Amino acid sequence: MKGFGMIELNKVGWLEKPVPTITAMDALVKPLAVSPCTSDVHTVWESSVPRKNLILGHEAIVEVVEVGALVKDFKPGDKCILPAITPYWEKVESQMGYHQHSGGMLMGCQYSNFRDGAFGEFFQVIQADGNLALLPEGVSLEDGVMVSDMVPTGFHGADNAEISYGETVAVIGIGPVGLMAVAGANLRGAARIFAVGSREICQKVSKLYGATDLINYKNGDVVGQIKDATHGKPVDKVIIAGGTLEAFEWAMKLVRPAGIISNVNYLATGEYIKINRVDWGLGMGHIKLTGGLMPGGRKNMEYLANLLAYKKLDVNPLITHRFQGFDKIPDALMLMKDKPRDLIKPVVII
Ligand SMILES: [Zn+2]
Repeated sequence: MKGFGMIELNKVGWLEKPVPTITAMDALVKPLAVSPCTSDVHTVWESSVPRKNLILGHEAIVEVVEVGALVKDFKPGDKCILPAITPYWEKVESQMGYHQHSGGMLMGCQYSNFRDGAFGEFFQVIQADGNLALLPEGVSLEDGVMVSDMVPTGFHGADNAEISYGETVAVIGIGPVGLMAVAGANLRGAARIFAVGSREICQKVSKLYGATDLINYKNGDVVGQIKDATHGKPVDKVIIAGGTLEAFEWAMKLVRPAGIISNVNYLATGEYIKINRVDWGLGMGHIKLTGGLMPGGRKNMEYLANLLAYKKLDVNPLITHRFQGFDKIPDALMLMKDKPRDLIKPVVII
């Protein structure tokens, strides 16, 4: 079979590999729709891990081709959402409530990391009963793909920020993840949502998801612009979904005592995050800084897909570029790398 992936650091291409073999709890699947991700781009062009001959892709709607003898709930022909995070559910970390780190830090993230992924003609899903979710009726392939990673990652930012009714939230970075953080904050009851970003299409879509104030960092100091709008008051919560490490310095200046800064941005470059001791209340401000990889697995996919099925969340405005055919995967990935200003997310319908 063939798949598109990284040949080595900074080099992508088509790879020829055997069809993966599965064990009793796994499924063999083929992609019906995929979306390349900024983290695929990080893996190839910004990583220090020298991966070789790895088929990329972790956001997909798949069709089950074959299941192992112990798989109970899925059968060949089922159309399923693939979670970007597919942990081993029996690991100690999973039992601790952090399946994202089953087997070690970030090891629940298998695709685009150490397991061949969704840009292959076929690929393996481990522990299928725990890691696949049926695509609900009435949800399109292209919308469904957004549930793999964009919705759960953005919503995880809002969840970790523990947003409640009436709060004021700043979301720094409004690419697809940041836009879903805006939507998640809105669904959790935030009243005022500052969306910090510069691209016109993202600003426009952020309004659809509940942003009340648009802040463009190209118009000057982000902290100053937000503090002007709030008459100097801090915000309750800050979600970081993009930008540079400087975003943490802004967040510390923006958040109230006992507020929460919640990061879901993949920090691909840079060394240290600076925390100003005064902004941090001399170390006694009860300000919480957290960051987490999205929750994967079946239950999370099923619940988030329900939001689409029952029209509580429309992810379609995220999809700005559409491709048809397996051989268009490289075009979609390069688009994600080049990030033209009218791009939010591309989808390839296989
Ligand atoms: Zn992704």
